[in-house]
Amino acid sequence: MDKKRSFYTGLKCRECGKNYPKEPIYVCEYCFGPLEVDYDYKAIKKVLNKETIASRHPSMWRYRELLPLQSSPSVGLQVGFTPLIRANRLAERLRVRELWIKNDAVNFPTLSFKDRVVSVAMSSAIEFGFTTIGCASTGNLANSVAANAAYAGLTSYVFIPSDLEEGKIIGSSIYGSNVIRVDGTYDQINRLCSEIAGLYDWAFVNINFRPYYSEGSKTVGYEISEQLGWKLPDSIVVPMAGGSLINKIYKGFNEFKDLGFVDNRHCKFYGAQAEGCSPIVNSLKDETKFIIPVKTPETIAKSLAIGDPADGPYALDVINATGGYGENPGDDEIIEGIKLLAECEGIFAETAGGVVVGALKRLIETEKIGRNEIIVLCITGNGLKTREAIENKLSLSAIIAPKLENFQELIESNIKNKEKIYYASHS
Ligand SMILES: *Cc1c(COP(=O)(O)O)cnc(C)c1O
Ligand SMILES: [Zn+2]
Repeated sequence: MDKKRSFYTGLKCRECGKNYPKEPIYVCEYCFGPLEVDYDYKAIKKVLNKETIASRHPSMWRYRELLPLQSSPSVGLQVGFTPLIRANRLAERLRVRELWIKNDAVNFPTLSFKDRVVSVAMSSAIEFGFTTIGCASTGNLANSVAANAAYAGLTSYVFIPSDLEEGKIIGSSIYGSNVIRVDGTYDQINRLCSEIAGLYDWAFVNINFRPYYSEGSKTVGYEISEQLGWKLPDSIVVPMAGGSLINKIYKGFNEFKDLGFVDNRHCKFYGAQAEGCSPIVNSLKDETKFIIPVKTPETIAKSLAIGDPADGPYALDVINATGGYGENPGDDEIIEGIKLLAECEGIFAETAGGVVVGALKRLIETEKIGRNEIIVLCITGNGLKTREAIENKLSLSAIIAPKLENFQELIESNIKNKEKIYYASHS
């Protein structure tokens, strides 16, 4: 197998179709549309098949012909091929037949799906000769850029809102990154970073490297189809921030259809956002053709708090074209969703995971998703990074002395009271 051969041919404007060479650019100079990576699919079809993929190392790079690098990746070699688990107990609670969870809460190295996009964008930036890497982030992206830059020996600048969860701030600072905390919203930070990217010769993974970055998300779609036994689900529920992930899972599914790796099963796409910042879902519900930005996001799901989503219009297209829908649970439902997932499946997800579970619950109750469908939920980040959201919502046991009688006393009083063994410690 020729590892060095590249099948990506350049960039292409998503709006007007104009072709561009392999460069670190991201907007069309004619129509200002976003640029996207293009491939020689005919050549890929000749060299790639399901058996070849299945025989490879279990990481996202088993699909390397469909990723935009010239040579082997230099960071993130272990990223991806995270578990897809059959969630029987959660399915029972929600009264659906077949539910699967794609668990990127255990991705490597920083426990979120952002490790996928960063490994592509940073490897690409290294190919183009960049030595300073940056990002505008709602938290997880900053963690991944900081960690991978440390591994690659590059300088990094990560820009985050100053009110992020402690776990996300520490999870960037520990790697020796330059963590720039900004008193502003993600959208304000993104604008600032666009200006900086124009002035400094830095690779901002989600700005000037966005075409490369976003391709990494396709691997979520590839893995789900392979792990389902080379088939697509009937419905998929995806959390949306900038709206890139949902678009790229859709692109990944379609590429697999075109390559003949899966049959033509129709998959409906459902987008999930938090009530306190749901510009894309609002647009679906209000049936507006355009997206009205949210100026001041207010939600515990900080990782999804993008008020003016760059790929929002395309996310709307995917959802509408596939006959899906969107939901936007409130903070209480998000917390309930986190707990439900943990108690049923042993998976501790961050707030974005609570958003997805809460959205699924609503979608089933309103019969937007049928109880007999094959459903996939995308869990994209780890709960230990957003402890603040649930810290005061859990019950802890009373503290006992290390003596058998004390334990028995506790158990007996518990039985007597027909109470649980737990007492609320914070209320
Ligand atoms: C960034 C992020 C998303 C969504 O990303 P977009 O591609 O911007 O829509 C989802 N979940 C988590 C945990 C994230 O950090
Ligand atoms: Zn164009």
